Amino acid sequence: MQSTQQKVAIVTGASRGIGAAVAQRLARDGFGVVVNYAASASEAETLVAQITATGGRAVAIKANVASAAEVRQLFEETERQLGKVSVLVNNAGIMTVQSVLDTTDALYERMFDINVRGTFNTLREAASRMAEGGRIINFSTTALAMNLPGYATYNATKAAVESYTRVFAKELRGRNITVNAVAPGPVATELFLNGKTPEQIAHFASLPPLQRLGEPEDIAAVVSMLAGPDAGWVNGQILRANGGVA
Ligand code: NDP
Repeated sequence: MQSTQQKVAIVTGASRGIGAAVAQRLARDGFGVVVNYAASASEAETLVAQITATGGRAVAIKANVASAAEVRQLFEETERQLGKVSVLVNNAGIMTVQSVLDTTDALYERMFDINVRGTFNTLREAASRMAEGGRIINFSTTALAMNLPGYATYNATKAAVESYTRVFAKELRGRNITVNAVAPGPVATELFLNGKTPEQIAHFASLPPLQRLGEPEDIAAVVSMLAGPDAGWVNGQILRANGGVA
C-alpha cells in the first residue's frame, strides 16, 4: 500500500464489469484512480463513492476513448486533479458476436473505433505524458485463440491491440515503462452475458479445467500484479487469464 500511495492510475471503461473491479483493486493497492466512462455517469459516480468511503482516492472522468480530443482531455484532467499518470489500463471495449456476412459497416466501425482507436488514442497520449517507471496494461481476449464463428471482427480488433502492445513496449525504450496485455477468457460481465442463452453460458463455463466463468476480480488481480512492483521485468507480453481454457 505505502509504496504506491502517490501513484495515479487511469482505468478506461471503469463504470462496470472488469474495469470497475480493476479500479477498486488498484484503489486498494494505494493508487489514486480515475474511473473513466463514456455514458454511465451514475455508475461511475457510485463506484467513486464506494472507493472513497473505504479510504481510497478516486475521481470519475467522462471521455469516449474513440475520440482523440476527449482522451487528451482525460489525461489533462487527470493531471490537474490527481497528478502524472503512472498506470494506464486500457480496459474500455465492446463486443458484438456476428458473422462476417451480417456485420454492417457501422458495427465494424464501432468495434474498431472503441477497441483499436480507443487503445491507440490513450497510448499516444501516454507516449508523451506517462511517468518514468509507469505500467500500461491493454486488454486483448482469449477468444483470439479460440477462433469461434462470429468472433472475426472482435478478434481482429484485439489482434490489433496485441500488435500495439508488443511494438509500443519497444518504442518506450529508455523510459522504464512496461506495456503488457491481459487476455481474459469468458468473464461474467454484461459484455459476455448479453445475448447468450443460459445453455450457451453454461457451455462456456464448462470449458476451462477450472470449470467456471471468470469473475471481474480474477482479472483485476492479474492487472494488479502487472501494475505492481513484482512485474517490473514483464514487458511486451500477452498474459492469458482464463482458467486454462486455451
Ligand atoms: P462491460 O461491457 O461490462 O463494460 C465495458 C465498460 O467499457 C463500461 O464501463 C463502459 O462504460 C465502457 N465503455 C464502452 N465504450 C466506451 C468508450 N467508447 N469510452 C470509454 N468507455 C467505454 O465489458 P467487460 O468488463 O466485460 O470488458 C472489459 C474489457 O475486457 C473489454 O476490453 C473486453 O473486450 C475485455 N474482455 C472481456 C471478456 C469477458 O468475457 N467479459 C473476455 C475477454 C476480454 P459506458 O457504459 O460508460 O460506456
